[in-house]
Amino acid sequence: MAILSQKALIRVDIQNDFLANSSVAIARAQEIIPNVNVLSCNPFFKLVVDIRDCHKPTHKSFAKWGPHCIEGSYGYQPPNSLYLSNNIKLFHKGIDDNVDTLSGFENPELLSYLLVEEIQSIYIVGLALDFCVLSTAIDASKYNFATYIILDACKGINVNMDNLAFQKKLTSLGIKTLKTADILSLK
Ligand SMILES: [Zn+2]
Repeated sequence: MAILSQKALIRVDIQNDFLANSSVAIARAQEIIPNVNVLSCNPFFKLVVDIRDCHKPTHKSFAKWGPHCIEGSYGYQPPNSLYLSNNIKLFHKGIDDNVDTLSGFENPELLSYLLVEEIQSIYIVGLALDFCVLSTAIDASKYNFATYIILDACKGINVNMDNLAFQKKLTSLGIKTLKTADILSLK
């Protein structure tokens, strides 16, 4: 029998401020939630991880993006429509006022956790495809995880999932892409 690699689903920045009514809201972002939810409950993944943006009101990125995801605010919270469970491990990024990186691996606890859990393959979903999802995927690949982006469970700001130039860029970075149905069809 083949040894199956251990897989983690990483959900990036699925928070109210990225969905609506803020300066960082992404058009039609709520469309990804049904796919994210069905993936989150799929035993294909050994574990599910949430990465959330979490800033103090003085974070340096607000000069560029406007205030968003302030600790304890409604905008920080995940939407009610998102599947949540106590088994989903949560990591914050953006806590340090002077650090403005997009990748979930900014928080070193994420890498430690994935290594302790002996994860080999990472599947990334969430927001925004061309910013925090991309940066998280680049870092995951750099740390030698087999790295996948599930395109129809992400929404971009400047690219959509059918953008061939963007897909080519991902391929050149060693990042593979697939769709939600590809995973649901596996046994
Ligand atoms: Zn932020």
